[in-house]
Amino acid sequence: MHHHPENNPQYKGLTVNEGVPSPPVVNPYLRERKKRRNFTPAEYAEQILKGNVTVLSQAVTLVESQRSEHQAVAQEVIEKCLPHAGRSIRIGITGVPGAGKSTSIDAFGMYLVGKRNRKLAVLAIDPSSERSKGSILGDKTRMEEISREPAVFIRPSPSAGSLGGVARKTRETIILCEAAGFDTVFVETVGVGQSETAVHSMVDFFLLIQLAGTGDELQGIKRGIMEMADGIVVNKADGNNIEKANLAAAQYRNALHLFPLPPSGWTPKVMTYSGYYKNGIPEIWDMIYEYIDFTQANGYFDFRRNSQARYWMYESIDEQLKNHFYQSPEIGQLLKIKERQVLHSEVSSFVAAKQMLDMYFRT
Ligand code: GDP
Repeated sequence: MHHHPENNPQYKGLTVNEGVPSPPVVNPYLRERKKRRNFTPAEYAEQILKGNVTVLSQAVTLVESQRSEHQAVAQEVIEKCLPHAGRSIRIGITGVPGAGKSTSIDAFGMYLVGKRNRKLAVLAIDPSSERSKGSILGDKTRMEEISREPAVFIRPSPSAGSLGGVARKTRETIILCEAAGFDTVFVETVGVGQSETAVHSMVDFFLLIQLAGTGDELQGIKRGIMEMADGIVVNKADGNNIEKANLAAAQYRNALHLFPLPPSGWTPKVMTYSGYYKNGIPEIWDMIYEYIDFTQANGYFDFRRNSQARYWMYESIDEQLKNHFYQSPEIGQLLKIKERQVLHSEVSSFVAAKQMLDMYFRT
């Protein structure tokens, strides 16, 4: 080696540095990650009942999972939590995009946590999430203040499946949240379609957030949504929008008078507020608690929850029958064939359906 020209002290050319021993390929400080042992359903339930939100989150993930082994665990956890659930006030919140739902939920949440000593879970049902594969509703970044609150649990809309499936998961998540000690549950949805009915079927109070618009706002609202509402609140009653908001509120009040008295016996109230400037928020909650007292006294509160339980029983049956049918491997294959035959008018849709159902019930 020493007779190599590089080792000659006179040598002025490029030299090769002496190497260092090459480090091990694997970082020695990285210990093999302990594989997390899966909790048993009893352990999940125990942690949830202790208010452990990390475990609550994991259980909600199981509820949302499509995998049947996850579903099996989830159902057991739910069953164990059920006796400890039901003690919250469940509030549905809807309004068109831009109505101020996230701003308001942020403001409502800070008020409930700060002034009413509540623990709040914010859930969502977003019908569009199936297509976009990612829901914005219930997103933490939209609710900056409450997302930093330890007394608030935020969970975006489950993203996969039919509206019925998504709604069922949200309803089951309500149970887990209640078992974890959350005494107020918001279920947010966009006021644009079927999802309000789903939300209405799982809450005690349905709040409709409206905007004062151009004076023809009443034409824009679907009668169905207004009929479902237990309270209508006109947002953005601030600055030079106050008068318009008051006018809109008066119009909603008049419109509501034309509807028959709802089965709750409660005449829906209309109020104005500003979610952004946090004006009128205590009044909204006084109204909601007044409604709860009123319906608890006249029995409607329990009646509504019982009807909802019955509704969800049938919904679950429907959903599971459907899943079982579509997930059966024979049907999966046959579906493609029959679909093609129907498209080529080789067989009518009714006959095709009957053939597949006959086969399903025979196996
Ligand atoms: P969402 O789509 O229903 O969730 O509505 P956002 O909460 O995102 O609000 C839509 C827009 O309206 C945002 O630019 C908000 O800053 C604004 N906004 C929300 N609440 C109020 C309010 O009370 N007053 C005013 N002036 N603007 C508001």
